[in-house]
Amino acid sequence: MTKNSYTIKDLFNIESCTRCGHCSTLCSAYNAATDLEITPAKKIELLRKKIKKDTIWGKFLGKKYFTEKDLEKLQKAAFQCTLCSKCEVDCPVNIDLHNLWISLRDDLAKERKVPQSLVFLRDRLKKSYNISFDTNEGRAKWLEALPEAKENNYIKDKADIIYFVGCVSSFSPRVFKIPRSVIQIFNIAKVDFGLLGDDEWCCGFPLLSAGFKKDFIDFANHNIEKVNSTGAKYLITSCPSCYHMWTHTYKELNLGIKMNFEVLHLVEYLYKLALNRELKLKPVNSVVTYHDPCDLGRNSGIYDQPRNLIKMVPKVKFVELEESKENATCCGGGGNLEAVDPKLSEKIAKLKAKQIIQTGADIVVTACQQCVRTIASALKKEGSKIKSMDISEFILMSILTPISTIQI
Ligand code: SF4
Ligand code: SF4
Repeated sequence: MTKNSYTIKDLFNIESCTRCGHCSTLCSAYNAATDLEITPAKKIELLRKKIKKDTIWGKFLGKKYFTEKDLEKLQKAAFQCTLCSKCEVDCPVNIDLHNLWISLRDDLAKERKVPQSLVFLRDRLKKSYNISFDTNEGRAKWLEALPEAKENNYIKDKADIIYFVGCVSSFSPRVFKIPRSVIQIFNIAKVDFGLLGDDEWCCGFPLLSAGFKKDFIDFANHNIEKVNSTGAKYLITSCPSCYHMWTHTYKELNLGIKMNFEVLHLVEYLYKLALNRELKLKPVNSVVTYHDPCDLGRNSGIYDQPRNLIKMVPKVKFVELEESKENATCCGGGGNLEAVDPKLSEKIAKLKAKQIIQTGADIVVTACQQCVRTIASALKKEGSKIKSMDISEFILMSILTPISTIQI
């Protein structure tokens, strides 16, 4: 075992596993790959052996107790995982598996057992502070298509509300429509906000989930200091992974810097605006379903606000997916899986697309740029015409709809 990777709680959890296997039957990665070697129960079994190998018990059993082959198997299983936390849903002893998988990756990184693609990702992040191949100066390029952007200088030193855009929405042209929709809604609702521009760095989740906790802490400290310096009262983000980092991980790690602001996911803020009648929602005559992003739903507990907001749009017929809320399946885009095993990521997305098609919906709404992207391409591969939209696009569409209702 590598020192300092596992908490006392992790070690206790590993020992308390009853080997019932419930986690494995729920596992998004296992269900797509049907490979018993990557189940959560298998990971725990190997991890228990890995930890015991350095104890008197492990030494007594000899070198064959945990072999180099076992370590390779553990590495494969650790990174063929989307960190979706579905494995936690039915655990009889309530093991915090999500944090255990993060500790495991940290341990493997210390032993240099991280897939090469993630080492490249870390190097890129440390150089450019974002997950793309561009420099961070291009972080607000998506603004250029907004006609009013030239007059409005959105990047501000001081602001009451900071919109933290996140790397994917800032650098992936396929989802530029998300931050552009957010800005249009904020302008319509007369929300006074600012952007950090190239002072916004990646939230650090790709580093943490690749096992590079020390680098992650540098990114977290930078981001907190920058937002504090603006005097903001609120930070709003449209990315569930950024949201989970800001609201849970930055706090749990006790970084020593106080956050002088409240953090909200965009969906919470839009719901507040809608309740206060600051958004004029017009009819959208469509059947709509909602996909719970893992970091917003299971990992952060936000289930009701997006559903309530969608149902506030007149004429919408809302339908639930067969597995929703805490039982929702992953879209395949989490945990750096796309970088490690894009084929497995695609297989998970295919299962999601099939469930969406079964609902008979015209639109699948979610609240995550990564889910929008993976679901859209999986639906396309299945030959479906269902639109995959972020909640910001859906709400903007309702606001801008002509009085005569639109039919998708
Ligand atoms: S986090 Fe998701 S993919 Fe990873 S082991 Fe748990 S259920 Fe499987
Ligand atoms: S569901 Fe919990 S107790 Fe059962 S095998 Fe998985 S981790 Fe262990």
